[in-house]
Amino acid sequence: MLKTTWNDVSAKNVEQKDFIATLFDRKHGKSTIKIVCPFCDTKFFAYIWSLAGIGKRCPDCGAMFGSGGVAYKRRDLNERQSMENRGEANSYDV
Ligand SMILES: [Zn+2]
Repeated sequence: MLKTTWNDVSAKNVEQKDFIATLFDRKHGKSTIKIVCPFCDTKFFAYIWSLAGIGKRCPDCGAMFGSGGVAYKRRDLNERQSMENRGEANSYDV
């Protein structure tokens, strides 16, 4: 698994996608949300506070989820190289 880190995000060595998070449960002041990974369709749960803090990583593909509703997945270096060759390395879907 390719673990995405915030260093990859700040280095822009990532692909980014919006993700869907729905409120699943609210107990003892802790709100649980259900997340669907936009990269691999894995469904998992996270506390809102953990998402807002250090972020949450997809257990299957290692993509990183932040509080802004955007998920980041580290680019494979070979893939990035081939994208640079095509001049697409800096084009992101927004
Ligand atoms: Zn995933």
